[in-house]
Amino acid sequence: MVIVMKPSATKDDIKNIDALLKKLGLGVHISTGSERTIIGVIGDKRLLADTPLELMPGVDRLVPIVEPFKLAGRTFKPESTVIRIKDAEIGGKKLTIMAGPCAVESQEQIMQTAKFLKSRGVQFLRGGAYKPRTSPYSFQGLEEEGYRLLAEAAKDVGLLVVSEIVSIKSIEQAIEYVDIFQIGARNMQNFQLLREVGRTKIPVVLKRGLASTIEEWLSAAEYIMNEGNYNIILCERGIRTFETYTRNTLDLSAVPIIKEISHLPIIVDPSHGTGKWKLVTPMSRAAIAAGADGLIVEVHPDPTSALSDGPQSLNFETFDTLLDEIAKVAGVIGREW
Ligand code: PEP
Ligand code: MN
Repeated sequence: MVIVMKPSATKDDIKNIDALLKKLGLGVHISTGSERTIIGVIGDKRLLADTPLELMPGVDRLVPIVEPFKLAGRTFKPESTVIRIKDAEIGGKKLTIMAGPCAVESQEQIMQTAKFLKSRGVQFLRGGAYKPRTSPYSFQGLEEEGYRLLAEAAKDVGLLVVSEIVSIKSIEQAIEYVDIFQIGARNMQNFQLLREVGRTKIPVVLKRGLASTIEEWLSAAEYIMNEGNYNIILCERGIRTFETYTRNTLDLSAVPIIKEISHLPIIVDPSHGTGKWKLVTPMSRAAIAAGADGLIVEVHPDPTSALSDGPQSLNFETFDTLLDEIAKVAGVIGREW
């Protein structure tokens, strides 16, 4: 439920309600808008049975939240969330670009990529250390050594690190090296893992499940937020449909839908979303035009020799073209790159 306060509500009115709700054992989230304040209430609403909140000074009305996600929803928090990590911002006017190889393969590969990305103004270096592959015979990643090489390259050139965690053990390893945890499509409904990252305050890129609805995806975000970690970046990465020409069907309609129903930032992964490097730039343009806050893109110094996802990876030259193209789109829609 949310309590919508009157524009004339005083600071004391808000303080009284906050204190009362907390005394009853309920969670409170206060959003201070330019015109009025909205108080989100979390917990069992039966605790309020004997409390006529609507009669309290300053209260305009009570609005029930009907969606299964509450903390992730815009009803609960009308203003868009901007996540700040060191000198970077995700969800603000400037677009966020996360780029790098599918998997960390060697020091040379990750170092070369990190230097290139830094020279192009990218702020986030991505790279997988644990690779949850469809086949057990495919390259599974360098594990902790992968996190270490990634962090070393990022530190050397001044980038922030995004990498996937797949288990409690990998969280313990990654915490030392990683600025943003990635939860992969295959783990979107690994509720134990969601709870565990929820207990850290480390920002999380939460990828949409291979066959998940938007409601299931936001409910996964709710699991993380319910543990106290509100730093979530949603990532649309394509869903399974009957189409086989592309690896997945990139559901760009998710972008404006998420923007309407959630306050969380959303980025798009056109690499896994299409599986083909030639489609990455056109779908990136479309993603930014649709209102995405940024992109996560696979870039490899030599995609033909990549140990995973080479066919969908850009090389340095084609990544330069992508940046040129999205800069044009950003200008048209009032974003910056
Ligand atoms: C990845 O980012 O390399 C990855 C495995 O992505 P997804 O979980 O979206 O398949
Ligand atoms: Mn990949």
